[in-house]
Amino acid sequence: MKKIAVLGSTGSIGSQALDICARHPEEYRVVALTARSSREKLFEQVRAFRPEMAGLTEPIGPEEIPEDLRFCRWMTGKEALRAAAAEVDADQVLVSIVGIAGLQSVMDALSAGRQVLLANKEALVTGGHLVTELARKMKKPLLPVDSEHSAIFQCLQAAGGNQPVKILLTASGGPFRTWTKEQIRNATREQALRHPNWSMGAKITVDSASMINKGLEIMEARWLFDMPGDRIEVVVHPESIVHSAVEFEDGAVLAQLGIPDMRVPIGYAMSYPKRMSTGVSGPDLFALGRLTFEKPDTDKFPALVLAREALEAGGAACAVFNGANEEAVAAFLRGEISFGKITEKVNDALEKLVGLPGTCIEEIFEADRKARETVRQNK
Ligand code: NDP
Ligand code: MG
Repeated sequence: MKKIAVLGSTGSIGSQALDICARHPEEYRVVALTARSSREKLFEQVRAFRPEMAGLTEPIGPEEIPEDLRFCRWMTGKEALRAAAAEVDADQVLVSIVGIAGLQSVMDALSAGRQVLLANKEALVTGGHLVTELARKMKKPLLPVDSEHSAIFQCLQAAGGNQPVKILLTASGGPFRTWTKEQIRNATREQALRHPNWSMGAKITVDSASMINKGLEIMEARWLFDMPGDRIEVVVHPESIVHSAVEFEDGAVLAQLGIPDMRVPIGYAMSYPKRMSTGVSGPDLFALGRLTFEKPDTDKFPALVLAREALEAGGAACAVFNGANEEAVAAFLRGEISFGKITEKVNDALEKLVGLPGTCIEEIFEADRKARETVRQNK
């Protein structure tokens, strides 16, 4: 029986992980659940999975906890995250919080010697060197949940120790792949939230539409697989069936295929090195007929260029890229700025904050704070 703590359990990834736990009650015991503010959903999950500990990062009074749920230890604020990541006795900690908020939890879980199942890409984007160093020191390699990174990880399992010469990181191209620059600039919230293939939380869906998500994923792959950015190639693949691939020196390419359903990579991280049923069946290749591949259009999606520049710049540049994007996406979702402004603001923050150091977690949080401030200042 594996004990699993789920941080961000009310989100898209968190709830799908709990679906898998429900399919395999004899193999997984849920020991901790956390959310930010979705209390009703969290109550439902606590009722169903009966964890030892549950918490909301936003305040909730003890009298607001339904009586039948008082069997478990309730916590609030950052303490709730820390307890779920490091205090509760768990074999696995799934970090499926969104944003840089996940960085501290990943560090806490690793410091406590937990196996981290990593959905939260922002932790690696902002603090990649700290996270990977700690994972190495604790001998707890990160298990990727992001579908592309899970695909790469799965391909590497079949590589017999051979190092790839190149990573082929696939991208659906998002809802605006075939739009003009002008149309993209003025896209509405509803249009940006309508992803053609994947059903995900709001922030990552907007990131997919701007292709900032793919920029974040280049950074994520750089740290997970210790691969320089110039050997990570983005391949637009609108069908989202090939989830990524790796190329070896003999010219062989290994890829992982499947329908776009996050339960597969979540389940693989949970059951690694084994596989288990997830409720998902394989793709029907005959029905699909063909798979297509394109080069990304960096004129329409400059975020990819910015991401590579940030990676190249080093220091806290990737934390600035991420922080500016988080702030700009939140402003876009509140209806305060246009879609086109998101990438502009990321560019602006990178130009203004070039050279900030990012050697320790405090400097990374400081760069994040400055990036957000820069975005807020020039509306
Ligand atoms: P969601 O927005 O659906 O869920 C986020 C979860 O984290 C919710 O439980 C939310 O609580 C909680 N949360 C949000 N902000 C904070 C915070 N500041 N502190 C603590 N908890 C917080 O996100 P997703 O599930 O879509 O994504 C989670 C992570 O996984 C992201 O990093 C994303 O990039 C990555 N990912 C997601 C994929 C997907 O298919 N969804 C695919 C690949 C990667 P509440 O409900 O109360 O707001
Ligand atoms: Mg992905």
